[in-house]
Amino acid sequence: MADGCNGHPHFFVHSNDGGEMNRRSLLASAGWIALGYPIRRLSAFVPTPRFSDYPFAVGVASGDPTSNGVVLWTRLMPDAHRMQDWQRETVQVDWAVATDEGMKRIVRRGRESAHPEYGHSIHVEVRGLQQNRWYWYQFRAGSESSPVGRTRTAPASSADSIRFAFASCQRFHEGFYTAYQHMADEDIDLVVFLGDYIYETGGVGPRTVPLNEPMTLGGYRDRYALYRTDEHLREAHRLFPWIITWDDHEVENNYAGIFPESNVSQADFLKRRAAAYQAHYEWMPLPKACIPNGPNSRLYRRLSYGSLASFFVLDGRQHRSDQACGGGTKVPCEESRNGQRTMLGSQQENWLTGEFKRARSRWNIMANQVRMTAVDARAGPGETYSMDQWAGYEPARRRFVGNLVDHRVSNPVVITGDIHSNWVGDLKVDYGAPAGRIVGTEFVGTSITTGGDGAASIPSVETYLSETPQIHFFNAQRGYVRCEVTSGAMTADFRVLQRVSVKESPITTRASFIVENGRPGAHRR
Ligand code: FE
Ligand code: CA
Repeated sequence: MADGCNGHPHFFVHSNDGGEMNRRSLLASAGWIALGYPIRRLSAFVPTPRFSDYPFAVGVASGDPTSNGVVLWTRLMPDAHRMQDWQRETVQVDWAVATDEGMKRIVRRGRESAHPEYGHSIHVEVRGLQQNRWYWYQFRAGSESSPVGRTRTAPASSADSIRFAFASCQRFHEGFYTAYQHMADEDIDLVVFLGDYIYETGGVGPRTVPLNEPMTLGGYRDRYALYRTDEHLREAHRLFPWIITWDDHEVENNYAGIFPESNVSQADFLKRRAAAYQAHYEWMPLPKACIPNGPNSRLYRRLSYGSLASFFVLDGRQHRSDQACGGGTKVPCEESRNGQRTMLGSQQENWLTGEFKRARSRWNIMANQVRMTAVDARAGPGETYSMDQWAGYEPARRRFVGNLVDHRVSNPVVITGDIHSNWVGDLKVDYGAPAGRIVGTEFVGTSITTGGDGAASIPSVETYLSETPQIHFFNAQRGYVRCEVTSGAMTADFRVLQRVSVKESPITTRASFIVENGRPGAHRR
């Protein structure tokens, strides 16, 4: 075992800058005591917290790589049986980044405060690293050391290739996270997660989740803690940096912006949304720019992978208009054609237009929530569309795809989750014109577990697929999508499991598609 895992490596010995912090907080404490505040309000630093349970049991994670840095994450978990003194206070956590797994060749180190107000989570924004290479990292609090995590920076300029997997929808009680067990063996640089990291709903299945839905910060924190008890999920976080966005279930099924799905007041819903957003931030390796301000959080952002690729991370939940026509799958009503309605909100749309104007990367990948390819779900005459998807926000969908055309965005590829099935679709401004120009490709990836074992095919879907020329592939097994981007092409391998209802299951590539540089449209390999 590496020294860093069990010993107390030399790199954690500090100069007295921590002592300076303690002296200052003691002075502050004296002032508060003079004012008669009880000692528990002081939030004093705890230089040597004593843990009765291993505080790093939920593991480590990293995210949002740049060409010179990355976000490092951990969270000190409280004792399961009784409140410890440190849980009410700010705890100092040391971190180190090395170029070797044994944590011998340290290149960056520092100290960060874990605050009780943020559940003792740590989000370190490391800078000063070299581009496009692997690093290892570790945390220490008191006499305890975290597992050693691995992460990778993004390329600054050109790179031969980028490999990544994208995933979504991991309802805990519906199956085992075997997909992550296999993902850990993949030769990939990063993971992109497209939403439904937790589900607010519980149930009984291969694993059991309590039925009462989280409504408070404590409730959402507990739900993430339950999900993170899965060793394969923890390992996927430990091995790769993740780029993360959310969809609806991180708060509530099918919520839309400020509009709840449940029958509660908007004020009560926004309190719930604030609690859910904070718990999400606390548990994810997100940069500090994503810290929520009450019920608001700026999650949309761009991550550059040099001249080869950019990832545009979209937030299609927080800022959207309510679903049109009462939601569900409907014949489009007048409301769905209202140009005032929005999926991303005007601020995000303006940001995106600015980014598209400046876009210089060869591949432009959009990390997106719900399906953008319009699919008529009624076989034969007449048309119905899901009002939760981009087709239910038709003018916004046209603006988005039209923007890609207007700004000649190079090789746009949308990656999507949400519907627990694999799809390959053509992005077009106008699907009504049979010869309409293909603007880009959408790869919709299946769920990690949601929906249970799944099937290669679903008869009700097959009835309308033959009438849907913009769809080139459909499959409803569980798994993830593995992608490779080079200057010449982007490939997507749909990796599927036999079952998720049992712990062990082999994974296979069900289909592979390729998009060639400068030639819009995906082709089966
Ligand atoms: Fe889902
Ligand atoms: Ca039809």
